[in-house]
Amino acid sequence: MSCNLCEEDYGMSFCENDCSYHICSDCCTNLKECPQCKGSLRISWFFAGKISMQPHMSKRRLVGNTEVIEHLKKEMYVTEITEYKDYTDLSKELPIEEIDSTNAIAGPFMIMKKIKKDEKLEVKDITNITDIVNIRNTQMIQKCDVFSLEINNDYDCFRSFAEWGMALIMGKVLILVVPVICKNIEEFYTYASDSIKSFEKVSFYKREAILRSHPLIEMNYKQYKKHMEQIISLKKQKLTVSDDDDEDAASVEEEDNNEDGDWDGYMSEHVG
Ligand SMILES: [Zn+2]
Ligand SMILES: [Zn+2]
Repeated sequence: MSCNLCEEDYGMSFCENDCSYHICSDCCTNLKECPQCKGSLRISWFFAGKISMQPHMSKRRLVGNTEVIEHLKKEMYVTEITEYKDYTDLSKELPIEEIDSTNAIAGPFMIMKKIKKDEKLEVKDITNITDIVNIRNTQMIQKCDVFSLEINNDYDCFRSFAEWGMALIMGKVLILVVPVICKNIEEFYTYASDSIKSFEKVSFYKREAILRSHPLIEMNYKQYKKHMEQIISLKKQKLTVSDDDDEDAASVEEEDNNEDGDWDGYMSEHVG
């Protein structure tokens, strides 16, 4: 269905209420709220994954003391920074950060500190405030619409795996982002299944708005769903292969090769 305003592009559901008013992303930039139900037109994201300085600073909210804030504003033109004293004061509720007309970030936060000797910033050691970090992340997962988990190659984003479970229980839309080269990706088949199920709760128009707005995915919903189903089918193939293993070791090697080939071909075709 075309955009209800311009009729020149596909209409999507940016509306927080997933109502029947569908607009294109261009028209959305000129609106403050949904013309039909007055709901917000921003998708609120939580980008789980291992916290590191690079390359995805734009998907983190920044926290720092006064000197970090001054540095970020001056050197990196970052304006939205949460004061460390506000972040650690749990009596204060933190709002989501509005990024543009269709996106807001709920979390997570990256806590920065300034190194005196070379005047650079680095990620602060948070082991002395782990309880606060955990509470803040849980609060912000509650505030998000879409929980996106980016798996890293070492699979050591341990807290993010736990947060996926929280977001699942909270009924959020779940997105799984896997690295292009990824060993044993089929073992994420339960996550792929959670993700597909979570999208069933929203309309086709909302699914498109979410996938179109995701900063790391260049797929529409149909392609994304196929991508998730591929992960599940790789697990099935692996189990079939290990069943055959007992009966005929020779044929296993052949199937194994096919399996890898299919996956590589699939990834180069669909994941940029
Ligand atoms: Zn339009
Ligand atoms: Zn609406």
